[in-house]
Amino acid sequence: MMSDLDDLYQQVILDHGRKPRNFHAIDDASGRAEGFNPLCGDRVTVYLKRDDGHIADAAFTGSGCAICTASASMMTQVVKGKSLADIEMIFERFHEMTTGREFTPQQAEALGKLAVFAGVKKYPVRVKCATLPWHTLKAAIENKQQPVSTE
Ligand code: ZN
Repeated sequence: MMSDLDDLYQQVILDHGRKPRNFHAIDDASGRAEGFNPLCGDRVTVYLKRDDGHIADAAFTGSGCAICTASASMMTQVVKGKSLADIEMIFERFHEMTTGREFTPQQAEALGKLAVFAGVKKYPVRVKCATLPWHTLKAAIENKQQPVSTE
């Protein structure tokens, strides 16, 4: 059962890694930030359009491993239409889940499809691949000029 679930999770990650969604630049982005994970070589640029306290649109470009690309792909899908407060909460939970802190099934449920990344906590070196797009998104919300590095 558990390995079936692992397989399913892997399939979702591989699918997004091969065919990333929202993989393009946004020319008139209201926020943009670059992120770099030197440990793996992942590079992402996150673009977003803000509409009051919401993210109206989000996209990314870059080159990263399957986990990083899949994480960025799913992240851009999840954050669209969400309020900044909701995004902050999702990011916190995502971070808790991938770093293997105390995590309840209710919290996993709140993460919805992002729960596929729960498996990365078994591979500490991969955690940064999964969280890099989120750190970069946060910088894009704040429109930071300084690139984000996981080191
Ligand atoms: Zn990576």
